[in-house]
Amino acid sequence: MQLPEDRTRRSSRRAFLAGTAAAGALAWTPVFRAGPASARATSAAPPNFPSPVSLYQQAYQNWAGQIVIDDVWTCAPASPGDVVTLANWAQANGYRLRAKGMSHNWSPILLPAGSTGAGYVLVDTTQSLTSVSIASGAPATVTAQTGVTMDSLTTALAAAGYGFCAIPAPGDITLGGALAINAHGSAIPGRGETPLSGQTYGSLSNLILSLTAVAWSPAQGQYVLRTFERSDPDIRAFLAHLGRAFITEVTVQLARNQTVRCQSWVEVSAADLFARPSAAGPNSLASYVDGAGRVEAIWFPFTATPWLKVWTLAPNKPLLSRQVTGPYNYSFTNSVTPAENTFFDEVATGATAGTPAFEAIAISLVDTGLVATGAWDIWSQSQDVLRYVKPTTVRIVEAGFAVITSRASIQQVVSDFYTQYTSRLSYYQGLGQYPMNGPIEIRVTGLDDPADALVTGAQSPILSSVRPRPDQAGWDVAVWLDMGTLPVTPGFSQFYADMEAWIWSHYAGSYATVRPEWSKAWACTSTAPWTNTTILGAAIPAAVSAGQASGDGWDAAATILTSYDPNSVFSNPFLDTLFG
Ligand SMILES: Cc1cc2nc3c(=O)[nH]c(=O)nc-3n(C[C@H](O)[C@H](O)[C@H](O)COP(=O)(O)OP(=O)(O)OC[C@H]3O[C@@H](n4cnc5c(N)ncnc54)[C@H](O)[C@@H]3O)c2cc1C
Repeated sequence: MQLPEDRTRRSSRRAFLAGTAAAGALAWTPVFRAGPASARATSAAPPNFPSPVSLYQQAYQNWAGQIVIDDVWTCAPASPGDVVTLANWAQANGYRLRAKGMSHNWSPILLPAGSTGAGYVLVDTTQSLTSVSIASGAPATVTAQTGVTMDSLTTALAAAGYGFCAIPAPGDITLGGALAINAHGSAIPGRGETPLSGQTYGSLSNLILSLTAVAWSPAQGQYVLRTFERSDPDIRAFLAHLGRAFITEVTVQLARNQTVRCQSWVEVSAADLFARPSAAGPNSLASYVDGAGRVEAIWFPFTATPWLKVWTLAPNKPLLSRQVTGPYNYSFTNSVTPAENTFFDEVATGATAGTPAFEAIAISLVDTGLVATGAWDIWSQSQDVLRYVKPTTVRIVEAGFAVITSRASIQQVVSDFYTQYTSRLSYYQGLGQYPMNGPIEIRVTGLDDPADALVTGAQSPILSSVRPRPDQAGWDVAVWLDMGTLPVTPGFSQFYADMEAWIWSHYAGSYATVRPEWSKAWACTSTAPWTNTTILGAAIPAAVSAGQASGDGWDAAATILTSYDPNSVFSNPFLDTLFG
């Protein structure tokens, strides 16, 4: 969608936000683009820019429109060597670079809200850094440049007979963006399941066997390409790095692809699914996880029955399943109805009293959509049933946390969370306030056990949300707790702050610990996510370091990342504070 230039140039953050709510169904496309010599350019081009690299001004907006910059200088390197050239140019000219994938992130790890983009050049990896090369072997591997999307990557892998145990729900994210934040799906071993060689139940970051970063060479006095093997202790800080590095290429281990069935239920009550462990029966979340290993619960506030997805490994098509031949089979979730748009418009004006009624509509749309599209029981290769979120879905904001615990405690974690969440909903409802109008989403994964990487001496990802705790050998799973709402909803950040304070204190005990889901909202205050200085400066470093050996925690990661980028070319003010 190409808008007239004058409208684009006047676009303010406020207008973008309102537009996001009112037109939540629309995939946002950067509408303004101007080259350095163009009369439309709104600021002088970065000086001395390396001429072979394509440079232009372009709008940047993150997923939920909470970060909008109308005209950032952006470039499209043609090769990893170009990125090295850019890094050395940036260092010499006082600029900083930000790797830009599909911009489908929430947290300010690319650029923070309020940035004008001055002094930065975004480096778009999606245009040319997209090569994929698959090698059979033991294990089979794929060497991919980081601008390739998960859609392209998983399609190419499937064509060669390979797949992943679990992947993020959207495919229109880049591999580089996914690995920056230890992206995950939802899987632990189901009953009787033997993991395939090459799989991990942790995050995608745990599959990395080597990676190439643009790194400062003290010997050469310049940035160079440097490849880190998984056995190199310094790779610990690069396997998940929150955008404080630039990775051009990774080699990732592969497993044989599997066929998977996905069944959906909307009949199981929230009371049963999230029951106290003492009252948990066959319809408890833990019971489903124990059986199939792969679940997702989506529960809309004020409703009685969540949408429960259960994925089961199924070598042959089950009789009652419908075979699908591609991804994104829940079309009803990837568009917005007129009724939804009306509600979004109301919320944008501060009128939220219709929230309970809207939530009832939301789950009924799932119910009817599953039937109308024949999607309640589908079967196919893994990449077809594990990708189901398109960029045309509603652009809500989500707060996210990974609770590390034992498999036996999954029900305790979700039950406690549900009890607390509903209690806060009721509290605010009593005040006539409805800060939450999107669903909570719960998934369960394993941890990033370095033993899953099929190389000797594999190192552990320090910054991964799902890094194991060596002092807690029994903690073997992560329960991912996400809370969604429209970003224009009054009071949402206060609600997040309430829940986050409870999450940090409640799961900091003998049965669990918690870490942020880096791509989402965390460190919340009543004003905004990512602004709580105590959480940023103390709670997060402590959570990352807790239970790890000396020299193997937060400070070690910050030191390693700084040592390979002492000029902070790959950073931004938010990351400066976080790692400061
Ligand atoms: C609707 C929706 C659903 C989602 N579902 C899931 C899910 O199921 N599981 C999950 O784990 N995540 C999920 N996410 C989060 C998503 O995986 C992350 O936001 C991811 O970072 C997006 O990738 P991107 O290409 O859009 O990255 P961008 O937003 O472009 O960048 C994100 C960060 O990665 C950095 N980066 C990108 N490329 C590189 C590179 N080559 N080198 C160094 N740094 C780089 C950027 O600088 C930035 O800091 C979801 C997001 C959305 C919007």
